[in-house]
Amino acid sequence: MTLHCLWCRKPFEPRRGGRRQRYCSSECRRTLDRAIRTWAGKMLEAGLLPVGFLRTYLMDNARIDPDGQSISPISDNSEGGLES
Ligand SMILES: [Zn+2]
Repeated sequence: MTLHCLWCRKPFEPRRGGRRQRYCSSECRRTLDRAIRTWAGKMLEAGLLPVGFLRTYLMDNARIDPDGQSISPISDNSEGGLES
């Protein structure tokens, strides 16, 4: 089954097992992760993204996270971040 990378749109063959892979490489995952952080930072600075919204979002997700792990969007851990 061929998927398309969420970031670069390149087709790739996902590895079998585990969670659904959305990026062709960890490079793409990290790049998008950085882009989102930069974007979110700009939105916060511009007052377009209320901090309270993020706080609520994180707390809600921490509660429903099926792995029972808290979600850290600013983690550089290669196992964390957006890939899931
Ligand atoms: Zn890619």
